[in-house]
Amino acid sequence: MSSSTSTRRLVIVSNRLPITVRLENGTIAYGESAGGLATGLSSFLDSYRSHFPDREGYVWVGWPGSTIPPDHQENVRQTLAEQHRALPVFLSGEEMDEFYLGFCNKTLWPLFHYFPSYTTYREDYWARYVAVNERFAEALKPLLLPDDVVWIQDYHLMLLPQMLRAHVPQALIGFFLHIPFPSFELFRLLPPRWREAILEGVLGSDLVGFHTYEYTRHFLQSVLRILGHDHSLGRIVLPAHVARAETYPMGIDFQRFVAAARDPETEAERNEIRATLRNMRSILSVDRLDYSKGILNRLEAYELLLERHPEYHGAVVLIAVVVPSRIGVDQYETMKRQIEEIVGRINGRFGTVAWTPVIYQYRNLGLHSLSALYSVSDVGLVTPLRDGMNLVAKEYIASRSDHTGVLVLSEMAGAAKELGEALIVNPNDRGEMADAMHTALQMPEEEQRQRNIVMQERLLRYDVTRWAGEFLKDLGEMEEVRNRFTAKLLTHGSRGDLLRSYAEARQRQLFLDYDGTLVPFVRHPSLAKPPERLHRLLAQLANDPRNSVVILSGRDRASLDRWLGHLPIGLAAEHGFWLKDAGGQWMNAPHPSTDWKLTLRAILEQHADRLPGAFVEEKEFSMVWHYRSSDPDQARPIAAELIDQLTSYTTGLNVQVLPGNKVVEVRTAGIHKGTAASHWLSGRMNDHILAIGDDWTDEDLFRALPPNSFTIRVGITNTVALYNVRGPEDVLRLLESLALSHF
Ligand code: UDP
Repeated sequence: MSSSTSTRRLVIVSNRLPITVRLENGTIAYGESAGGLATGLSSFLDSYRSHFPDREGYVWVGWPGSTIPPDHQENVRQTLAEQHRALPVFLSGEEMDEFYLGFCNKTLWPLFHYFPSYTTYREDYWARYVAVNERFAEALKPLLLPDDVVWIQDYHLMLLPQMLRAHVPQALIGFFLHIPFPSFELFRLLPPRWREAILEGVLGSDLVGFHTYEYTRHFLQSVLRILGHDHSLGRIVLPAHVARAETYPMGIDFQRFVAAARDPETEAERNEIRATLRNMRSILSVDRLDYSKGILNRLEAYELLLERHPEYHGAVVLIAVVVPSRIGVDQYETMKRQIEEIVGRINGRFGTVAWTPVIYQYRNLGLHSLSALYSVSDVGLVTPLRDGMNLVAKEYIASRSDHTGVLVLSEMAGAAKELGEALIVNPNDRGEMADAMHTALQMPEEEQRQRNIVMQERLLRYDVTRWAGEFLKDLGEMEEVRNRFTAKLLTHGSRGDLLRSYAEARQRQLFLDYDGTLVPFVRHPSLAKPPERLHRLLAQLANDPRNSVVILSGRDRASLDRWLGHLPIGLAAEHGFWLKDAGGQWMNAPHPSTDWKLTLRAILEQHADRLPGAFVEEKEFSMVWHYRSSDPDQARPIAAELIDQLTSYTTGLNVQVLPGNKVVEVRTAGIHKGTAASHWLSGRMNDHILAIGDDWTDEDLFRALPPNSFTIRVGITNTVALYNVRGPEDVLRLLESLALSHF
């Protein structure tokens, strides 16, 4: 971890605490929670404490695993805090029904695992999802210290990062998604309000982690297409902060499985299983009961193996462990019945008095039973239809202390990206799976060892501690990125200086850009009409006799006149080609010819015709090609081609080609907002100059002003301005303070 995080406390937030609390016969019982995430993170935290004893330590926040009646809650809260470093978020049965069984497991889970037909879209589930995320935020608020590192886990809490950022802006917030992030075509099936809120929620984080590069890519693509934020190497510059999306494949606690395989308890179980199997070969299948796990296909593939290869009759056994899960979701009940039917069919069809082809167990196994099965089975058969990572595959490999055993792994599991030496199969292809089982059963031991040793080394190197460590190290580094990006942020102190200078000044000059500075960007330029609040504010500023207020805009004269013409302010249209004093007439800045427009209009229009949503805006001294409403992936190459063509057409002309924010602008060179500003500056003795703008055209203005001016760039980005502010809301608040300051 970087030194910047060295004294920070780690706050882990997940739906479930690693401790399950239950009320049994009137008394509270505490037990360990099962599951890869709780176990994996707990292993990491053990090493976190021993590796970094100087750290502030950690606290884990989450639901305690069952509904705890109010009269026991305080007691549970104390015990968890004192003995387990945990803070419970108590949720009622009804809340869990609509939040966990509802939105989490009937909406997000199926959709993100590519089961759109199982996906439910219910407003009450969504409302509860928002409310429970808020409950977590409320629980965290009194606990969080400004310097905490918060690490939020998984799809249950996708809105929480943004909710927390609003309360503790300085906290470093990480988010990890443990399930796949689906492609845009799937994700967009969510109603717009939900999908926007989910992406914005996640983007409240400084760092967002996914198991595979594919999921990261899908996320970035949805962010671009739905929210319009592009990225550079996974970094997304947002108005308020920079978020980064990166890939960290979750590892397992490798040594825990090595040790478990050697444990005498495991040894005893192993001997028992061996005695039952006699000399039969075994294939192991272990999953939670879930449609994403592909259990039915797998059983059918095994049936096909027995059909095709009678030599395995009486010689091979499939041990199928199905772990009870999320009881109450309808599909799970149906699936359980189907599994039992197929198992019955296979056993009925092929079994004999001496041989049961499928040994089926519907139960949860402890570490030693699991380890015994992993280490006894000749083949590990892991064939989910879709799986974020799949830890069972990794645990099987880690448990093979003599390096034998063959892993048959679905290409749809995140783990397949790291375990390329396994026999990789498509889980929908029963024939291929049957062939892979056959290949696995026939594979020479030497080849088994060769494959497994490579995978074991990889899993040992990138274990769960390394996974969490790398995520937290990168999260720590986001603090430096943030500091760099926010170095110029208008602080309380410099805001005070500005207000003081303004209040004391006798003559003040205010230069304000319009779009993106006083009003947020909208899809079409004609929609950016000034709201009432802005009208009032500009009037108030302009009516102060000490003030000269000028709006410097890229807009045409007509729009500025329509919206702002009646105010006693100066206006500059088309980035300074047209100037108008308060109450005066439009004047032309001296300019060369605009003959170029005729030739270039054809090129701009031709490119707009090729791109749905793109259009050409013609002003008197410039032309703008807009593509804010177009599909970003389709727009990118067309915009690049347009810039290329315009650049070569305009060599020798006194014309500039300027790529902007979802626009390409062509304009006559030599006139800009800086030259426009000089019109108002000359002959006036200002003792306070303030300039605020949001894009590159405002940089010309900042450069042209005297050094003691207050210059502010809207948005967190590089600038020659003295300060940055985050967005138009900050600008309005600042101007409102100025407007009030002389009273
Ligand atoms: N597991 C368990 N008891 C069992 C079967 C599995 O504790 O009877 C554990 C297993 O060791 C693994 C986790 O449950 O760590 C399953 O993780 P995986 O990523 O394979 O699937 P998930 O259930 O998270 O979808």
